[in-house]
Amino acid sequence: MKLFHVFAVVALVTAIPSKAESPRLKIYTRPADTVYTAEVNVVAVTEPEAKAYINGEDMHVFPTGSFGMPVQVKPGVNTITVRVGKDGETTQKTFTVFRADESSRPKKNIEVDESTTMFVNPFSVETLSGAYLQYGNGDDRLGGSKMGFIDENIILKVIGRKGSLYCVRLAADRLAYIPKVYTRPVADNPEVVNTGSWQINNIGDADRVTISLPRRLAYQYFTDIDPQTIYIDLFGATDNSNWMTQRTLDLGIIDYVDFRQISDDVYRVIIRLKGKYQWGFHVGYEGKVLTVDVRHAPRSLKLKDLTIGLDAGHGGKYPGAISPSGLKEKDLNLDIVLRLKDLLEKRGAKVVLTRDSDIGPSMAERKKVWRDAKVDLAVSVHNNSGGSPFSAPGTAVLYKHLFDRMLAECVARRLLQTGVNFFGLVGNFNFSLNGPTEFPNVLVEGLFMSSLEEESRLADPSYRQLMAEKIVAAITDYLNQASK
Ligand SMILES: [Zn+2]
Repeated sequence: MKLFHVFAVVALVTAIPSKAESPRLKIYTRPADTVYTAEVNVVAVTEPEAKAYINGEDMHVFPTGSFGMPVQVKPGVNTITVRVGKDGETTQKTFTVFRADESSRPKKNIEVDESTTMFVNPFSVETLSGAYLQYGNGDDRLGGSKMGFIDENIILKVIGRKGSLYCVRLAADRLAYIPKVYTRPVADNPEVVNTGSWQINNIGDADRVTISLPRRLAYQYFTDIDPQTIYIDLFGATDNSNWMTQRTLDLGIIDYVDFRQISDDVYRVIIRLKGKYQWGFHVGYEGKVLTVDVRHAPRSLKLKDLTIGLDAGHGGKYPGAISPSGLKEKDLNLDIVLRLKDLLEKRGAKVVLTRDSDIGPSMAERKKVWRDAKVDLAVSVHNNSGGSPFSAPGTAVLYKHLFDRMLAECVARRLLQTGVNFFGLVGNFNFSLNGPTEFPNVLVEGLFMSSLEEESRLADPSYRQLMAEKIVAAITDYLNQASK
């Protein structure tokens, strides 16, 4: 996965040598024919034992064969020569770059229409399966920032439009956006409703909270970690729940429940948990009854008693990032995941993979594998791309929900022990596999494949083994912390 756009267009030298080229030389990144900057990046790949020079300057050739440097260019025509040599043989490739004046740079049309068109006559739609709400009309590679998924058959009032999104009014003081494709029009004009009675019960492996409602309402859930709490805001509801009945004194994880009427038509469900960890929850409707299942902690927090979900990013026709020397992210991800699987199984864990070969299941299929297996926690493995090939941005661990943060921090601490830089711990990350709330989960972006130094680490099987060992150690750290 790329966290940001790759800076340079990848251009390959098109001439095919008539006889086998020795030593091999592939120009991986060369500047555009016309540039407007004083420095351009040149990256090439040769045989690891070859000596390499760019404009006569001696290069460090990584074990992958990748090498390169930022080259200074003067105004006008510049010639860049890349030469490699081995066993008395030489291969040389030359290209020219014209550095034009900055003022002649073509203006990009960067006017973006951020405005939402408001309708004079609002109308109602009903949500379809797979629907989710966004905070705003923004967009990025992973889609606009999600408020969360919501059930089907929820009626929403549409008050505007921005591109493929409807703007909907959830409450007097709350707007949201929803992709049109997850809605269909209905003739209905929903009013604010009164909430009905609550029941709280222990259903075996989870505690269940149910709230009767006269119709399905839109909702948003979020978590807090100190103390552990699940909040669900119900939009279009006022409190009329005179019966909040806890049917047992032996709840597995819920300490108590409560509510706040936080505005005229927003009703907040508060579920306070015992202990310092959450093990997942599910919010949805059964008929018109809002149903929240809060998973109990696993009976044992030993790896041998747990099911761990693993995901190797990309696969099949989706290679993910490709490094200068040609390593494919999908292959590295799978290699690391298979090492992880071995290590976890040696410790007795049951491991569930979203893929164990070079296939590319959809995000929905991957999530279903984890949900069906009721995994206790899950890790998705990717590697990154972007930025300068001569930097080493380092490792990142990403999560969506606050309750996933402790696991993410454990993983980041352990990965840093492999001696790499730290890109960061990234929260509220919009990656699809970080969406599920049913189990703690994190995304690992191992290293940057676009970085020559980090590519070289990733190419080394012993480094990938070390990464896998550290992720297992991190899972163990997390479980140990949670056992205390
Ligand atoms: Zn990826």
